[in-house]
Amino acid sequence: KTIDALISEYFQTGTLQDLPNKLFINGEWVSASTTKTIESKDPGNGKVFASVSAGQAEDIDKAVKAARDAFINVWRDMKPSKRGHILSKAAEILEQKADYFAVVEALDSGKPLDEAKGDVASSVGALRYYAGCADKIQGDTFPLGDGVFSFSSVDPVGVTAHIIPWNYPLATTLRGVAPALAAGCTAVVKPAEQTSLTALMLADVFVEAGLPDGVYNVITGTGAEAGSPLVNHPEVQHITFTGSVGTGTLVMDAAAKNINSVTLELGGKSPIVALADCDLEKTAEGVLWAIFYNAGQICSAGSRLVVERTIHRELVDRIVEKTSQLKAGHALTNPNYGAINSIEQLEKIDGFVERAKARGITVACGGERIKTKETENGWFYAPTIMDDVPMDDELVQQEIFGPVLTVQVVDSLEEAIKAANCTDFALAAGVYTQNISHALKLSKSIDSGQVTVNDYWAGGIEVPFGGNRSSGIGREKGLEALRNYVTTKAITMTF
Ligand code: NAD
Repeated sequence: KTIDALISEYFQTGTLQDLPNKLFINGEWVSASTTKTIESKDPGNGKVFASVSAGQAEDIDKAVKAARDAFINVWRDMKPSKRGHILSKAAEILEQKADYFAVVEALDSGKPLDEAKGDVASSVGALRYYAGCADKIQGDTFPLGDGVFSFSSVDPVGVTAHIIPWNYPLATTLRGVAPALAAGCTAVVKPAEQTSLTALMLADVFVEAGLPDGVYNVITGTGAEAGSPLVNHPEVQHITFTGSVGTGTLVMDAAAKNINSVTLELGGKSPIVALADCDLEKTAEGVLWAIFYNAGQICSAGSRLVVERTIHRELVDRIVEKTSQLKAGHALTNPNYGAINSIEQLEKIDGFVERAKARGITVACGGERIKTKETENGWFYAPTIMDDVPMDDELVQQEIFGPVLTVQVVDSLEEAIKAANCTDFALAAGVYTQNISHALKLSKSIDSGQVTVNDYWAGGIEVPFGGNRSSGIGREKGLEALRNYVTTKAITMTF
């Protein structure tokens, strides 16, 4: 079906045909052990358009056993270049089905269609990148002198669990699953209950690509009923979790009980430092999209602007002016500004802003829900800028996970560094300056997993991604991600 046919089907019927609603275990679509379901709601109008199964501990157990059998009997020992070939084929198939995936992702998450297309393209990119890595994971030799030969074998760890959040459902799934499969591990995925569809649809892509049964399994369900049994399962060897700090703590606790390794991609409150010598127009545009892309529902969104006083007014005015060009609407009408994923998240954002208003903090723009003809009964929040906020305020210290930019005004480079590092989070940071010494000084001094200079979203699948402190443990993306899924065996022989 063409993208136009899918969109008109949705607007005429309120749903799409053939959306998956079962669990995917051992290469088959199976019913969950209960008849309970979870509704998928369209954030653009609040209406239910699909439902998925509420998987339970029993279903998780079946999926993990299937993944374990597939690991031992097929995937671990398959020639790595063949594994790479299957992943490459999956990339090709996903690319052919990109429009369908983008429409479903946009509907499920509320993000504009073009943004969803970007997510599918980066997911294809992740499959391709790690397909090429499959036969390049190799060991070393160690010098021990005459009569001894010592070398290492780099082996897949086993069954890996992937717990996914709702803001980038497909992209986060493949960011973890692609390197895991390339390394020779098998996977059990538990998508977020709000956005489970594309992880399920991916199963058909893998089947068509020739992935052996049991290598990729998907159990939809709630965190308590499906997520918790998965991360606590004794046959799981590594957990890749993306989500909130609170749940991340529970996941790490579960991993500790089974002595498992974890990759935790948690929250952020990432600063963008704008120095007096920056290019104001470029900075204003950069900050606009750093915070308002996906309506701010990005762990690494640039949610704090740390700006030198001499350019503060002009920079904020320019960003405010640009927000007036953002037009909210239903995801499938492809606006340049989308919805908030759930009513709960919308209320959380509203709560932060209302409390700040009550404390007397200046609202430079936004500060309320959007209710227009285009947004019907959907969950939309205006792009919001809260100006000149003190360092100890909750707007500076806590993750809002929505379209709210908090501005902190500073008087020097030293103050800017202090302001940038003033929260428990340390995920990403942006720097806008035309002075290379300042760029280097800030890049070195800001505590975060990544720093970009003069282009907030610069990067790609090649670049390691992850956080320090409360923002997480370990890195995804790049070659570094492969380390999450392998273990080194040293073999030493005497002769
Ligand atoms: P969340 O922690 O509520 O849920 C994330 C996932 O964990 C969901 O699939 C949920 O069902 C599951 N879960 C819940 N309880 C569980 C349990 N006890 N055991 C196992 N799994 C459980 O987070 P969310 O609200 O879906 O996502 C928003 C958060 O995710 C934000 O804090 C955001 O910063 C973070 N995030 C981080 C990144 C990153 O790469 N660092 C990316 C996206 C989102």
